[in-house]
Amino acid sequence: QDYCFGLWSRSERCANCISARALSTGQRTTKFEFTDDHTYLLAATYLEVDQHPCVLECMLELNDATLLGAYGKSEFISRLTWYTNQLYNDSLTGVRNRRYYDDQISGLTVQAAAMLDIDHFKDINDTWRHKAGDIALQAVVKAVASCIRKSDILLRYGGDEFVIAFTEISPEIFARKLQTICTAVEAAVVPEYPDIRLTISVGGVYGKGQLKEKVEAADKVLYEAKQQRNHVIVK
Ligand code: GH3
Ligand code: MG
Repeated sequence: QDYCFGLWSRSERCANCISARALSTGQRTTKFEFTDDHTYLLAATYLEVDQHPCVLECMLELNDATLLGAYGKSEFISRLTWYTNQLYNDSLTGVRNRRYYDDQISGLTVQAAAMLDIDHFKDINDTWRHKAGDIALQAVVKAVASCIRKSDILLRYGGDEFVIAFTEISPEIFARKLQTICTAVEAAVVPEYPDIRLTISVGGVYGKGQLKEKVEAADKVLYEAKQQRNHVIVK
């Protein structure tokens, strides 16, 4: 019933989830983790139990005096947090980036996934110039993010394409949510460019499975949705 990140008093998945990474890559992965009073070294090892892919995560409490002598603890933590955010966030839109997908979550089991792509985005760049395109991308992210829960993962897959991974959602709510997202983008206002109108096309796939398989399937559904544009198709 519980998520492992509860152990660190967090309400959402760790940015640097080594278990997800070990599951995706099949390789042993390590990291530091901190609570108010303690520092731990964690190692996640991929293994198979009765042919089921599993990850064994082990933690070792570290002695602060030896580990943090050079920096002091808060400096050490802020450096690591900064580094992780630099690595895994898209600098333009602030959402997770493709590296995060590839490194961390492509192997996760999800309930549903959607791929969305801005319609005729090239025209926005051509008509209003690149800076307007950048602000429009931020406006799309803001609109999409306002429709999803914190536990859902929104990431910039590339260019004007985004992926949303849903861990727990019913098929009805999933279909309704994608429609809501489409409508929210249509209603989005681009700061400084009130005449820009944005729409997206969305391909959604429902059913438990590995995220990377869902994303591949959603990409095909998106292609269908693109035949109409400003349109959602769910399979
Ligand atoms: P479609 O409806 O078929 O998706 O048409 P489209 O014009 O959106 O076509 P496509 O997806 O091929 O074009 C994506 C454009 O997104 C091309 C590229 O110049 C632009 N783009 C990608 N990344 C950025 C960015 O970070 N900023 C800006 N301003 N534009 C970007
Ligand atoms: Mg596009």
